[in-house]
Amino acid sequence: MTDDTKKERQPGKPAEDFQERQAINSRLSRVKEKLVVLSGKGGVGKSTVAVNLAAVLTQAGKKVGLLDIDIHGPSIPKMLHLENAPVTGTETTLAPVIAHKMKIMSIGLLLQDRDDAVIWRGPMKSNAIKQFLRDVEWGELDYLIVDCPPGTGDEPMTVIQLLDRPTGAIVVTTPQALAIQDVRRSIVFCRQLQLPVVGVVENMSGFVCPKCGEHTDIFQTGGGESMARDMGVPFLGSIPIDPQVTVSGDDGQPVVQAHPHSETSKAFGRIVRSLLEPELSEEKSLEKREGDAMKIAIPVAQGMLAMHFGHSEQFALLEVDSENKKILSKEMLTPPSHEPGALPRWLSELGASVIITGGMGIRAQNLFAQNGVDVVVGAAAEDPEKVVQAYLEGELKAGANICDH
Ligand code: ADP
Repeated sequence: MTDDTKKERQPGKPAEDFQERQAINSRLSRVKEKLVVLSGKGGVGKSTVAVNLAAVLTQAGKKVGLLDIDIHGPSIPKMLHLENAPVTGTETTLAPVIAHKMKIMSIGLLLQDRDDAVIWRGPMKSNAIKQFLRDVEWGELDYLIVDCPPGTGDEPMTVIQLLDRPTGAIVVTTPQALAIQDVRRSIVFCRQLQLPVVGVVENMSGFVCPKCGEHTDIFQTGGGESMARDMGVPFLGSIPIDPQVTVSGDDGQPVVQAHPHSETSKAFGRIVRSLLEPELSEEKSLEKREGDAMKIAIPVAQGMLAMHFGHSEQFALLEVDSENKKILSKEMLTPPSHEPGALPRWLSELGASVIITGGMGIRAQNLFAQNGVDVVVGAAAEDPEKVVQAYLEGELKAGANICDH
């Protein structure tokens, strides 16, 4: 998404598209940072995180707008008790509702009946999103936070494509492995749309007793952090399970306002600090990328590194400690069916950050590059562990790519 694609009319694109973009850009011209909040699946606390981050930023003196584009399940109005708040406007503009000093807009504020949106199809949804960006009087904002529906569907794609130079995405997950698998998809989705991932937030991470403050890990925690490390994106922090979050939500108040001194509010505060000082979390992620565990994938045929990446029976996935040049674990995995794009997607979802192979077609190499995965071609047909050890020692001999189709 370069600036030029936004500013100049593209050949073959209708003039209305161009005018629409111009109108959106002009409406949002005084918005400094545009953050999109995503999650792999519903119920992980994405809207809770969006609302509380917006509230902490407001407490820090920032001007904040919060846009809820979850057409089928808009939860922001409910969380802030705005279900009956009147929306005013003119023929061509809509005034955002002001609550807790934030400017709020949601489809939930406009529908008479929540079930009205159930029958909405793609074009109606994207028109609604355009209208939110083009017609709402956002004015001057330090942050516009967009709460998207879960997954990687039309709504997040539309909003990311319509925003001019969005700052990036905050991806919310929970410690459970399934959610973490889903969240990898969200990160790959951002990469495909060239949207930077500002960072991952692990919600419902351990339980902090509201009485004694003791932290108990109910589920295994830290999965979000290691997933972020594997995928080379910053980890912004974790939020504990806190019954006060739900109670505050039911009372229409963000927990950071209702209980500003709780562990949960402190955790939100730390996340906002790393948003306001991004170099802190960038340094953290770089440190981890360079010094800690990473995964290397190798196509295998008859136990040896395969010459042709796309035709291998199995893949060896080795977790390594690159700093100490050690192999930590090795798994043998069967790849999915051989259809275009399936292998890059599969390997990037497994968290591989390097592929070593004999040969790989240029198209597949480009797909990996887009997903932030390094590819080493021209390696010899040897035992995968030997290949990886040589790679870690900086002694891997790689010749020419033996496959260019
Ligand atoms: P999503 O937007 O991902 O669907 P929500 O933000 O609507 O998820 O949260 C789902 C439910 O989980 C809500 O009832 C909310 O109050 C609760 N919840 C979210 N985060 C926490 C937390 N850290 N501790 C306790 N309950 C939480």
